[in-house]
Amino acid sequence: MKKKIVIIGNGFASLFFVQYFLVLPIFPFFAWFLRRLYSRYDITVIGNGDFIYFPAIPEFITGKKNKRDITINIRPFLKRRNIRFIEGVVTDIRDGGRTVIANENTYKNDALFLGIGPAFLKDEIPGTKEHTFSPCNGPDDMDAFMRQLATLEQGIIYLGFKLNKQDGFVAGRAGQMYECACLLDFALKERGVRDHFEIHFFSSNISPDETGAITDRMRERGIILDYGYEPAEFVAGGMLNEDGSFREADLVLYSPGITGSRLVRESCLPVSAGGQIDVDKYGQVKGLSNVFAAGDCASHENPPQWVPHQAHMAQLRSQAAAKNMKTVLKNTQPSKTYRYELSCILNMENDAMWLHMADDSKPPFWNIFPRRSKKLIALKNVFERLYLFYLRYL
Ligand SMILES: Cc1cc2nc3c(=O)[nH]c(=O)nc-3n(C[C@H](O)[C@H](O)[C@H](O)COP(=O)(O)OP(=O)(O)OC[C@H]3O[C@@H](n4cnc5c(N)ncnc54)[C@H](O)[C@@H]3O)c2cc1C
Repeated sequence: MKKKIVIIGNGFASLFFVQYFLVLPIFPFFAWFLRRLYSRYDITVIGNGDFIYFPAIPEFITGKKNKRDITINIRPFLKRRNIRFIEGVVTDIRDGGRTVIANENTYKNDALFLGIGPAFLKDEIPGTKEHTFSPCNGPDDMDAFMRQLATLEQGIIYLGFKLNKQDGFVAGRAGQMYECACLLDFALKERGVRDHFEIHFFSSNISPDETGAITDRMRERGIILDYGYEPAEFVAGGMLNEDGSFREADLVLYSPGITGSRLVRESCLPVSAGGQIDVDKYGQVKGLSNVFAAGDCASHENPPQWVPHQAHMAQLRSQAAAKNMKTVLKNTQPSKTYRYELSCILNMENDAMWLHMADDSKPPFWNIFPRRSKKLIALKNVFERLYLFYLRYL
């Protein structure tokens, strides 16, 4: 009997999980045929069918990327792998993970993988939903921000983020917001209107006396650093400070801290202090058997404080989870853990920096690339094109 595997979500974590779970990472036509003839697993993915390449969203600001470029219909990728796709939203998980409910239908499994991504703490600062935009809400929200920006010839723009550190690591989007601020500076200069705008950057998670390479890049661009600041409320035309006074802002781009979604809170999944799925160092959901989670939906066991949620971390975690799931399906103890690594290229359009940290101090790509160079933008684009080509054709 084939083992039934159910995967929830079709984002980075789930697709990396598929890549590492199957014997072959790529499926050109002839391999697709072989998998039809022989496979040990009966795999079902439940999701919305659209993969979004989030790391490219900040580049909407310079007009270099748009929704069409970064959205991929994932059904052909799954079909090549003989994986059943169910379009739907999972509303409950029961029986210790063995039963999944989507579209009011029931899906039974021998093993379950959760790659359901983040939810954001939008209620922490009142007015977030009504008066801010966020690249984390996806392409449509970023497009709405760009439409508003296009109507302004002058003004005050605030960008900021908040982190959820309750699980002992960085559950939030700091690097991405720095990138948006630098790209905004570039785009306004290109339009010849930079002098008519104030760009402010705020976060209560950054100390007012913070120094370092990113802060230097922001200062070089004349971005006003409101480090340490957190609005009491976002309101029409600006923000209220703690003392009730008003700060004017024509536009706010803000990323709240990351937590777990309603499904995490309202199903049989264990919840971490930060509201995420509580997992161990093997990616196993604590207290449930044959249930794994990776990516932005899951906490870590004893993480280093600096580790963020990233597509790159989702890859490392999904790789371990895929190996461990195969192990537990053979009634053996899981043994594969994952490295902690922060790795991303901060694109400023006229400059770029490779931000990197690893628990084993290994440099990225054996240090063959410079840590600061405009050429890193081309490299970032190569990574993106390769991954999207893989999803589209292999
Ligand atoms: C603006 C921005 C820039 C970024 N830049 C970088 C970068 O440069 N480098 C980097 O490594 N990372 C970057 N990231 C972070 C990266 O995009 C995330 O870490 C990554 O998307 C996490 O993958 P995931 O699969 O956990 O979540 P997602 O990619 O969000 O996927 C979650 C999936 O689950 C589905 N889902 C959710 N709930 C349900 C449900 N109930 N039922 C069915 N399906 C469900 C969703 O539809 C989606 O398909 C960036 C993020 C943003 C927002």
